[in-house]
Amino acid sequence: MPPTPKKRLAKARTRSRKANWRLPALTLIPCPKCGNLRLAHHVCPICGTYRGMEVVEIEVKEAKKEKGKEAG
Ligand SMILES: [Zn+2]
Repeated sequence: MPPTPKKRLAKARTRSRKANWRLPALTLIPCPKCGNLRLAHHVCPICGTYRGMEVVEIEVKEAKKEKGKEAG
């Protein structure tokens, strides 16, 4: 026999438990270099800087052909 709950949970109990499921709001801060909103403690996706240093080289988006090559 499958395990069965001994008692039925009240709707309020289920719903109050699920009330805590939502994710916390994202922390967005303006980038000091370009002013774009970015996630805190993350490299800026627009200018590729973190703590004033350029960490990631941002490529200019080109034709969709290249993306197809990367996927396949
Ligand atoms: Zn930036």
